[in-house]
Amino acid sequence: MSEIIKVGVLTVSDRCAAGEAVDESGANLQALVASGTVYGGKVSKYMCIADELSLIKETLINWCDEEKLQLIITTGGTGFGPRDVTPEAVKKVIEREAPGLSTCMITESLKVTPLAMLSRPVCGSRGKTLIVTLPGSKKGSEECLRFIAPAVPHAVDLLMGWKTRVEKTHSALQAVGGHCEHIHHPRAHPHGHGLHHYHHHHHCHALGGEAENQESKADVSRISGRPRKSPYPMISVSEALSTVLSHAEQCANKTLPMQESLGFVLAQNIIAKDPLPPFPASIKDGYAVLASDGAGLRTVGGDSTAGCSPEKTRVSSGMCIRVNTGAPVPAGADAVVQVEDTELVKEDDDGRKELEIKILKVPNQGQDIRPLGCDIATGQKVLACGTLLGPAELGLLATVGVTEVLVVNKPTIAILSTGNELQEPGEPLREGHIRDSNKTTLMSLLRQYGYPVINAGIAKDDPTALLSSLKYAFSQADVLVTTGGVSMGERDILRPVLTTDFDAHIHFAQVFMKPGKPTTFATCQVNGRKKLILGLPGNPVSAVVTSTLYILPLCRKMSGRSDHMNTEIRAKLSESIQIDPRPEYHRATLCWHPGVDIPLAHSTGNQLSSRLLSLASAQALLKLPPATPEVKELAEGTVVDAILLEM
Ligand code: AMP
Ligand code: MG
Repeated sequence: MSEIIKVGVLTVSDRCAAGEAVDESGANLQALVASGTVYGGKVSKYMCIADELSLIKETLINWCDEEKLQLIITTGGTGFGPRDVTPEAVKKVIEREAPGLSTCMITESLKVTPLAMLSRPVCGSRGKTLIVTLPGSKKGSEECLRFIAPAVPHAVDLLMGWKTRVEKTHSALQAVGGHCEHIHHPRAHPHGHGLHHYHHHHHCHALGGEAENQESKADVSRISGRPRKSPYPMISVSEALSTVLSHAEQCANKTLPMQESLGFVLAQNIIAKDPLPPFPASIKDGYAVLASDGAGLRTVGGDSTAGCSPEKTRVSSGMCIRVNTGAPVPAGADAVVQVEDTELVKEDDDGRKELEIKILKVPNQGQDIRPLGCDIATGQKVLACGTLLGPAELGLLATVGVTEVLVVNKPTIAILSTGNELQEPGEPLREGHIRDSNKTTLMSLLRQYGYPVINAGIAKDDPTALLSSLKYAFSQADVLVTTGGVSMGERDILRPVLTTDFDAHIHFAQVFMKPGKPTTFATCQVNGRKKLILGLPGNPVSAVVTSTLYILPLCRKMSGRSDHMNTEIRAKLSESIQIDPRPEYHRATLCWHPGVDIPLAHSTGNQLSSRLLSLASAQALLKLPPATPEVKELAEGTVVDAILLEM
């Protein structure tokens, strides 16, 4: 069982090879292999080459015969474009075709898009190497790899003659009567707007090995034996938040084109390499003069307009040069007199030229001149490491000519809904079902704040289904937000699956708050990477309140923001409010009245945690204190803390 499959990922794309496009598909396929989508696989070769038949052929032959890879995955060049020749190259290289793999990819892809009719996959073996051709798009190539993943390890075992693994698979097949056991596992499309379609993912226990089809070891079958009280201690919101934040590691740095860096935190100091203004510049439309000449007559010796070269002219005693705002002040001049403080004395015959003017006010030395480098000096630090890049900061980068910046990356967050009752919003509503709203809400919330999100689909309340979804989510992101499955029901299986199958540490699972009491936070290691899991309650309002409270600060901190906490203000209750034994986060709109410095807060009405309508127009979460035996209500006019919800 210990053999590792050596995998080669070959991207065939003129544009990527020329550096005109980023090889997202190749990068994604490598990540998928590394995360275990292809059983026991390890990427040992990767190349990105142009759509050249001979080049593709040579590379494949080298990887088969010299490098002795067990599996080669190509992406790109399988379409109908004039340069699409990957299948032709593969055909020349393989010795035996494996049409079953190609059929599987086409059949499954057709369920996703009719355009699959136009893909031309070729799969087969050369010596002991299996070669499969995947389409070029990131989404398509990932889907196709997932379609064939259950059969690939067995194919490799057979080609390699790895006997024990082959026998094991065969006996597993016998045990289930010669058929693969198909588990229909709905999984949303992980990419694009992907909220609409989903396909059924065929799991084949006997073939797949542990990467894709592992069964959960969590035993949740003893319903009557489940605890009737949460075994986790109840902690406060502030303790919960500081626990979450204490696990926030700042993301790695990356270089971005300046234009794409909006909303990122700068990971370098920005030093000006030249002065601004780069020449002494006039602040006014007027005349450049010698201040020592005082008021009185001047001959007009020419002009200096914005954008012209400063060496063109020179000012000497008794003369002046007409200048515009932003134009270089000519050499010799030490003051600018605005046109309003002058009079025309003499012009030429056709009135096109000023010949002589009179300065009405005695000029001061340096007046209305921005000296060289007065805004930004050469070598000056214009932006410090740690600065959040907003529109003005990007303008500064443009000013100092910095086109690429080192920034702190942002975390990618995978969002997974759980619940047997959930279905995608676009499907006809089935009996006993409701539409999954949490995924849309949370993905939109995070996107609104500029965080990349991954749709990890809907998991059934079944340990093995959840395990498979969690694995997928962990292969895509280091932060996972789930909704549902953390209450006290026997179907609330997130915690058992996390602890049993991922050896996760549950940091807390009960918070003294309303809504959001069962909010769960766990961490674990997957393939050497630390994963943070926030298990939010399924109720739509609880999910939004808890993501605002915990996930937004977490994401900000991971993105390098020092100001990662939510903004809190004070607000005055417009009416009396009953308070709960738990601290409540009460949705409200805010109204600022002229002359009053504290806004009035209006409750959005019924605060049932299932009532998404109570959030629809909310601008703030009022932090209502817990009730005491003495105080069960806050009177109208009470001032409370409120978390601002930016919209
Ligand atoms: P749970 O936390 O799984 O016990 O779910 C609590 C409530 O929230 C139940 O009424 C669920 O049907 C509902 N719920 C769970 N997940 C979602 C979701 N993704 N969208 C809308 N409602 C949900
Ligand atoms: Mg549920």
